[in-house]
Amino acid sequence: MGEVQSQTVPHAVPWMPEETILNALEKVIDGFRRFRDDAMQTRPEFFEKLARQQTPKVMVIGCCDSRVDPAIITSADPGDLFILRNVANLVPPFEPDGARHGTSAALEFAVDGLKVEHIVVMGHAGCGGIRALLQRDPTQPSTDFIDVWMSQIDGVREQVLHDHAHVDAHEHQHICELESIKVSLKNLATFPWIAERLEQGTLQLHGWYYDIGRAQLMAYDAASDDFKPM
Ligand SMILES: [Zn+2]
Repeated sequence: MGEVQSQTVPHAVPWMPEETILNALEKVIDGFRRFRDDAMQTRPEFFEKLARQQTPKVMVIGCCDSRVDPAIITSADPGDLFILRNVANLVPPFEPDGARHGTSAALEFAVDGLKVEHIVVMGHAGCGGIRALLQRDPTQPSTDFIDVWMSQIDGVREQVLHDHAHVDAHEHQHICELESIKVSLKNLATFPWIAERLEQGTLQLHGWYYDIGRAQLMAYDAASDDFKPM
């Protein structure tokens, strides 16, 4: 790959101050150059082998949030994690209705094609998607796509607001973040090829919750129906 010409970028996004764009993007490009130099100098054989195939054993379904990159917070190597990220790390149920299901397509590829052995649904504190779910007016969608996407866990919102009527908005959000992970775990089991692998004991599902400020990871424990520090 040739050198990236960062001067060309402002023309692509004319509505942002030139300096902001250059600083932010230069950091990204500079980061890539350091990654490339390190990769080629210290582990060229590793990357040569990696170029031929991927054999990840773990799939992570995380949120798009910039602070919760699964590969960074687990110190993963390229090839370790098959990662799907969407708004609020949601897994819809199995719905073979002909619509364009990006999340389900990634699941099929990971489970049926790559034969991953673990699927981790990783939620996080301060999730903007969950905040949107709690703040939205169900009778008046205010976004093109986010409201509809988040409406798949309207049941979680209703349940939490009903069962925890006397806690504040911050606590509602925290409980919704945890409960939505449990819904995604249940939905994963509705995919026939996942259910089959669970039955065979060749696939395990995990619910994790990442606290950004404390860099703490919690894991869902089905026996106690609770999240415990890892
Ligand atoms: Zn999020």
